[in-house]
Amino acid sequence: MSSPSEPAKTGNAAKSAKTPDAPKPSNFLRHIIEADLENGAYAGRRWGGAPGDGPHHAAGISDPAKIRTRFPPEPNGYLHIGHAKSIWLNFSLAEQYGGVCHLRFDDTNPEKEEQEYVDSIREAVKWLGYDTLLADQPQQPGTEQPHEYFASNYFDFMYRAAEYLTESGYAYVDEQTPEQMRANRGDFGTPGTNSPFRDRTPADNLRILREMRDGKHADGSMVLRAKIDMASPNINMRDPTIYRIRRATHHNTGDKWCIYPMYTFAHPLEDALEQITHSICTLEFEDQRPFYDWLLERLAEGGLLTAPPPRQYEFGRLNVGHVITSKRKLRQLVEENHVSGWDDPRMPTLAGLRRRGYTPESLKLFAERSGVTKTGGAWTDYAALDAALREAVDPKAVRAMAVLEPIKLVLENWSEVFGSDEHLEPCVAPRHPHHPEMGQRSFKLGKEVWIERTDYEETPPKGFFRLFPGNKVRLKYGYVIECTGATKDAAGNIETVLAKIIADTKSGTPGADSVKVKGVITWVGVADGKSAEVRLYDRLFTEEQPDAGGRDFLSVLNPGSLTIVQAMVEPDLINAAPEDHFQFERHGFFVADRHDHSSEQNGQGRLVFNRITGLKDSWANK
Ligand code: ATP
Ligand code: MG
Repeated sequence: MSSPSEPAKTGNAAKSAKTPDAPKPSNFLRHIIEADLENGAYAGRRWGGAPGDGPHHAAGISDPAKIRTRFPPEPNGYLHIGHAKSIWLNFSLAEQYGGVCHLRFDDTNPEKEEQEYVDSIREAVKWLGYDTLLADQPQQPGTEQPHEYFASNYFDFMYRAAEYLTESGYAYVDEQTPEQMRANRGDFGTPGTNSPFRDRTPADNLRILREMRDGKHADGSMVLRAKIDMASPNINMRDPTIYRIRRATHHNTGDKWCIYPMYTFAHPLEDALEQITHSICTLEFEDQRPFYDWLLERLAEGGLLTAPPPRQYEFGRLNVGHVITSKRKLRQLVEENHVSGWDDPRMPTLAGLRRRGYTPESLKLFAERSGVTKTGGAWTDYAALDAALREAVDPKAVRAMAVLEPIKLVLENWSEVFGSDEHLEPCVAPRHPHHPEMGQRSFKLGKEVWIERTDYEETPPKGFFRLFPGNKVRLKYGYVIECTGATKDAAGNIETVLAKIIADTKSGTPGADSVKVKGVITWVGVADGKSAEVRLYDRLFTEEQPDAGGRDFLSVLNPGSLTIVQAMVEPDLINAAPEDHFQFERHGFFVADRHDHSSEQNGQGRLVFNRITGLKDSWANK
């Protein structure tokens, strides 16, 4: 492992300079870190410039990072919204307290991990704005080098640790069958039974462990176990397995190993080699903490690791209503084609959320607001994510008119007012109502316009102020019109809505207020409007907790989670680039699809917009 590096400024957050120093809501993890810093709990730590064992760090410099946290995804799937919370938490704690956050691919399991997932995780991390964690991103001069690590690079040390435990009598090779091991583990109220192999000598255990490593024994024929206490009230302390034999090709180390460490053994070692101070994980790992501490204490005694060891802290995982956050289940949705892929805009993966139009700012705002607590079981309402999106995107989203369910409106007296049926009247509107500096958009009103089918009622229900015979409304940014009726096809369906334009009522002119109306409707000109595919999304599951009580989550898939409509949109939208955000007036927030949308300027493009969310929470009363 590499030699100590020059002291560097702490913090791998080059971007942080831009974030205003708003007070952060406190949480129990902040309290722990503040107390640790105050007591100097980590003051004497040294850093060898790269991950390494005890002597490596002892020979290094005084650690320039006040604390070290890590985000350790297992590359066996795409990151999801829960991971966004975890990375936000680890990164922002490090940033706030003069520390650094490590990105660590926890790739010790050879079976499920693939390069595709490593790539997708790096892309998601970069998109979220944490690119200072990535080794191949341009770094700000003077900031510390990025900490992007692969746990599989620690296999040599892990094996050395296993040999040390074995030689010291803290580990033994067990040849019981998996069934015998399970039966002898006992259960909650019953102590376990010692394995008949538990009292082999350290020398014998070491010899057999080496044979395991050298491929002399069959997969599954034996395992290495820590020797702790088969009667412990914590089942995780009843001689947990730490190494198994598995002939599998690993994406990083190839066929070098035929034995692999168990996650519960590997993870504390990864933290220790990286000099992590605060190892933050979700509550499921609470029962693993005693083994985590036991293991690091043993190895510190043996001089393999330095003190103080990392400490593990647990918080309640993020659960979001109507959302699944298990990678295994998300994989099932993809593999069984219930969605179009990992980045289907209905997926809670970061790739899916991105494609749907959620922004990094909105996800971080959501993560922060969802809170960090010691207890689990809480569910965060999906509406909070949409609220965060609206808040983050509203100040920037350019406005546009779009008609999602178009029907033609004909202004019968057009030539009487404007001299010819072909006349097109230029109209303008602000790109953003509160940001005049963003400029204006322009489009044309003509004899024929597209309006929403639902804006016309032959017999208006009570409280309906839009088009019905005899009623006046304003075409937004245009003129006041008076509805005269509609034409119908042979089956009695409305074909075309008819109206008269009222002269001298154009928006922005002195005559605009001469006629009072109760309704304003959005529209798109037939002459200059553009056709666009608009994808309207709804929740993927009909139940708030899709897999509650062991229910098959596939049984509550929402069959109406995607509706595709052919809409008409304002002409300016031919300039939209993939991932541009818009507010379609009256309809909500939309994004140009990052894969299927292409600008139409050259006449070749295809306009495709995804609805992210409506203007208000439409689920509030459902
Ligand atoms: P899954 O069960 O979906 O595979 P995981 O927890 O096994 O998820 P990892 O890749 O091991 O996924 O997780 C990386 C980090 O993200 C871990 O520290 C984990 O605790 C955290 N994390 C995963 N899911 C959530 C969640 N829903 N809320 C908060 N943190 C999470
Ligand atoms: Mg995991």
